[in-house]
Amino acid sequence: MDGQTITTAPVLILLGPPGAGKGTQARMLEDRFGFVQLSTGDLLRAAVANGTAAGREAKAVMEAGGLVSDDIVIAILRDRLAEPDTARGVILDGFPRTTVQAQALDALLAETGQQIDAAISLDVDDAAMVTRISGRFTCGGCGEGYHDSFKQPAEAGVCDKCGGTEMKRRADDTAETVASRLDAYHAQTAPLIDYYEKKGALARIDAMGAIDDIAAGLGAIVTKATA
Ligand SMILES: [Zn+2]
Repeated sequence: MDGQTITTAPVLILLGPPGAGKGTQARMLEDRFGFVQLSTGDLLRAAVANGTAAGREAKAVMEAGGLVSDDIVIAILRDRLAEPDTARGVILDGFPRTTVQAQALDALLAETGQQIDAAISLDVDDAAMVTRISGRFTCGGCGEGYHDSFKQPAEAGVCDKCGGTEMKRRADDTAETVASRLDAYHAQTAPLIDYYEKKGALARIDAMGAIDDIAAGLGAIVTKATA
C-alpha cells in the first residue's frame, strides 16, 4: 500500500467501559454515517492475514510471545486508512490506549493535515453498571435472559419460557469483577480523557439511558464534530 495516502475522512475515537454498549453504538454510526469501525484486534488479524510488511512484523512479534509495538500498530493503521472503504470515516475502538499512542496517532493524521474529529466518551454510573451487569442470569435450558433487579421470573428459579430450573451466571459478571473492570478502565482511560479534553476534542455522552437516546445524542455529537 506504499504510496497511497491515508483517508482525509473523519476520524473518531469511541471510549467506553465493557458493558457501556460501545459495540452497539459503533454499529449505529456505521449504518448512519457510513463509517468503518476499526478495532485493534481486527486490524492486527487482517494485517497478518494479508501479509503486509507491518503484518509480517506483527506476526513475528506475536509468535515470539511479545506485545506488538505502537510503531507497528501505527504502520498497520496507516495502511488501513489508505483503503477505500474508510473514505467516509472511521471509528477507532481500543486504540489509542495510552497518551503515547494518542500522540503517535496525532502525528500519523498530521501527515495529511488531519486531526481527530472527536474522542467520544460513553460515560457510565459505576454503581448502576455493577448492578446492571452482575444481576444478569440466563436460563440454562432455553437461554432466556433475566435480571435480579429488573426481570425476575414469575416463580423464583423457574424459567417463564420453558419451565427450566437451571439458571446460569457468567463467572466474570460478579459485582467484584465488574467493579474491578470499571476501575481498570478508568485508570487506563483517565489520561486519554484528559489528553483529548485539553485538545478540545473530547465529547461526553451519558451511556446509562435508553439505547435509542444514546444513539441520538451520539449522532448529534458526530454531526457537529464532522460538520
Ligand atoms: Zn428457559
